[in-house]
Amino acid sequence: MDGSLPPRAVRTTCPYCGVGCGVLVRPDGAGGATVAGDPDHPANGGHLCSKGAALGETLSLADRLLHPEVKGRRASWEAALDAVAEGFRRALDRLGPEGVALYVSGQLLTEDYYATNKFAKGVLGTANIDSNSRLCMASAVAAHTRAFGEDVVPGTYEDLEACDLLVLVGSNLAWCHPVLFQRVMAAKTARPGLRIAVVDPRRTASCEGADLHLPLAPGSDVALFAALLAELERRGLGDARFLAAHTEGAETALAAARRTAPKAARLTGLDPALLDAFLDAWCGTERVVTLWSQGVNQSSAGTDKASAILNCHLFTGRIGRPGMGPFSVTGQPNAMGGREVGALATMLAGHLRFEAPEEVAALRAFWRLPRLPAGPGLKAVEMFRALADGRIGALWVMATNPALSLPEGEAVRAALAAAPFLVVSETSARSDTAAFAHVRLPALAWGEKEGTATNSERVISRQRAFLPAPGAARPDWWAVAEVARRLGHGEAFTWAGPAAIFREHAAVTGLARPAARAFDISGLAALSDAEYDALAPTRWPVPARGPRATRFFAASGALSGRLRLVPTPFRPPALAPDRRFPLRLLTGRLRDQWHTMTRTGAVPRLMAQHPEPRLWLHPDDAEGLAPEILVRAETPAGSAVFRLGRDPGLLPGAAFAPMHWSAAFAPAARVNSTLVAATDPASGQPELKHVPLRVRPFVAAWHGFLLAPRRLPADLAPWCAVAPLAGGVWRHELAGEEVPEAAFARLRALLPAEEWALFEDPAAGLFRAAALAGGALCGAIALAPAPALLPPRDWLGALMTANALAPEDRAALLAGRRPEALPPSPLVCACHGVSAGAIRACGASDVEGVGQATRAGTGCGACRPEIAALLAREEA
Ligand code: SF4
Repeated sequence: MDGSLPPRAVRTTCPYCGVGCGVLVRPDGAGGATVAGDPDHPANGGHLCSKGAALGETLSLADRLLHPEVKGRRASWEAALDAVAEGFRRALDRLGPEGVALYVSGQLLTEDYYATNKFAKGVLGTANIDSNSRLCMASAVAAHTRAFGEDVVPGTYEDLEACDLLVLVGSNLAWCHPVLFQRVMAAKTARPGLRIAVVDPRRTASCEGADLHLPLAPGSDVALFAALLAELERRGLGDARFLAAHTEGAETALAAARRTAPKAARLTGLDPALLDAFLDAWCGTERVVTLWSQGVNQSSAGTDKASAILNCHLFTGRIGRPGMGPFSVTGQPNAMGGREVGALATMLAGHLRFEAPEEVAALRAFWRLPRLPAGPGLKAVEMFRALADGRIGALWVMATNPALSLPEGEAVRAALAAAPFLVVSETSARSDTAAFAHVRLPALAWGEKEGTATNSERVISRQRAFLPAPGAARPDWWAVAEVARRLGHGEAFTWAGPAAIFREHAAVTGLARPAARAFDISGLAALSDAEYDALAPTRWPVPARGPRATRFFAASGALSGRLRLVPTPFRPPALAPDRRFPLRLLTGRLRDQWHTMTRTGAVPRLMAQHPEPRLWLHPDDAEGLAPEILVRAETPAGSAVFRLGRDPGLLPGAAFAPMHWSAAFAPAARVNSTLVAATDPASGQPELKHVPLRVRPFVAAWHGFLLAPRRLPADLAPWCAVAPLAGGVWRHELAGEEVPEAAFARLRALLPAEEWALFEDPAAGLFRAAALAGGALCGAIALAPAPALLPPRDWLGALMTANALAPEDRAALLAGRRPEALPPSPLVCACHGVSAGAIRACGASDVEGVGQATRAGTGCGACRPEIAALLAREEA
């Protein structure tokens, strides 16, 4: 524990990824807070990653939505809620329950999630409630349900440390679940026999320290695991007793695998020797965990990919015992909670099922709401198509940004713009989606709200408020309850607070017993308010009666009916590359960013690793393209513009772009404009990790940047990327088509200056301006015909934080070169602000030595793979 924290630190949970780390927070009384890892939380034992450690820097109210708005005007809550109720009433009258919808989020706490699901299914009578979790792990949910009869993650994080072989499939755990990755690396250090295999078309940070990397062709995972299942059978490794006693479907699954296996090397593109090494490792290791994430799920064959993994574990009985099993990690902090309360179009509350009439009847009777829909509703992609077609008359979006996250982004934005009635509950005033809303409702943010979230290993943790509600912001569950009351169902929404909602949610999980369900927290249904406030991290199940399983589906117990192996014939991605679009675009996360950057994008040290949106190509594919130019990425769905990067860790023919940049940060770099809406037939999850691509230079008359002492809108030029620098300086990277002289004059008008230091060479296309006030630099502009001719931004940004300019700096400003002419050095360690140059210069030859010399890698540890790679490059 951080010794500087006071004894009365608030114990809460990180709001970012599905690891679900515990956090200790001490508010400073002025709206800020000190943040440290909670040493008593089972997920992280006191560790935090760079994002979690920077949570205290995300508490500003600068971009918050603080008051309700109706048609763009500030309104009272009464007026806003009346408008919401009236909008939904009108849509119900006109289109019936199929004509209304809610689109919610894994960012919601379980209590908010429960309230929205009850409102949608019980009050509106619609199953048209879906979550952005549909984009994240819906394929895992569908595969779990096919195999287990219920959506259950069988194991725990401890299994990742206890196994002898950890296979990461489509998961850059080092960047996307950093604390979990550091747990694994610590276990491997303590027990070098723990081997790690990474299955990923990219050589990611997770490959550093791995024993095996399988750079398979994008979308070919089913072929790999079909080959594994066939090989397990060939070697006689099926667990006959387990299969006979507890499973069904093995023969049909094996038959499909046998048909695909001979083609596996061709379909995956893997070197046969590498494929054999993987088969040997998996077949020869009893304690094996196969962990997967969005690289598997975000696919038009995502459910089959996950099922192909589950098949191998079920066939060998390697499940439900310490150190073994399939493991799906969720992207979002409470994706699991959303699944528990049934806030998806395909589920009912508490893992109750549409297809079980007695369970539907039990829920209807418990809620005393007569309108429960008879079957599933519209999944995310279908929902927004229905909105575009005019089949949805009222939509309520909560805590998510579909304008930026759903595929075919231009069509989604057009549908939102044309929506008859759109409500958005948000914390951010800069959300792309909120810009289209008729009614905006200010929500509570992390630090202000109370509730629970469930992480990837089924541990329920309390999120506790440590800041007062700002402005008129209120809890989402309260807003939902108020609208339900206006629609005549207030008696079912009389909760005094989140504890009461949690008790009701827990009671639902005990309904319709003895039908066997793994998700049962009925033992928490009688918690008092004080017990709820003090609730320690608790892994489900917590039944009111009977044993509590830690793991599921071991032969020794905790079985709920027959487990099913499922045939998974190979299907390629929906669209294949062709002559027009010869490359394949993969999308994903960056180490220091979260979703659409509404929080992490405001933190300079989190923006330092990648201040601009980039498209990375394999060097062979980037041949002929100048370094650092802007490129237009074109796909059959649309296009976006990125800074070009080169990554030899990519497969030739594959490209990678991050998912994070929004209209608020870089409107031309919204990657969802390039993605097609091909979905998995079982899960409805869209294929966000594969689309055919071609890349062309983005032709601009000038390239440039503007540094300002405040954030300016991200529409200063056709290409604009905004990022904060240290000291309150904002960097605006630009490229435009107007004549440079005109652009230079237009941009200068945006900066306050008492005095200008100017350099203009129209013939060469070079323009530089330094805005001075009181002898200090208060802004800078540079334009040039090519990006390589622009001065370094970090140098100028640092000069802007100085009280006065030294004479040599004045001269250097006009020359456009920093005096010492040092090359720019990218930040590697976000926790301690250590650059690549400092690491190179420290003289250490291993990661530990770098840590001792510079502190790099000694914070969250997420940069340790990059430090290792940097040292390896230096050595080579
Ligand atoms: Fe938060 Fe990082 Fe932990 Fe994820 S790994 S929960 S982002 S601190």
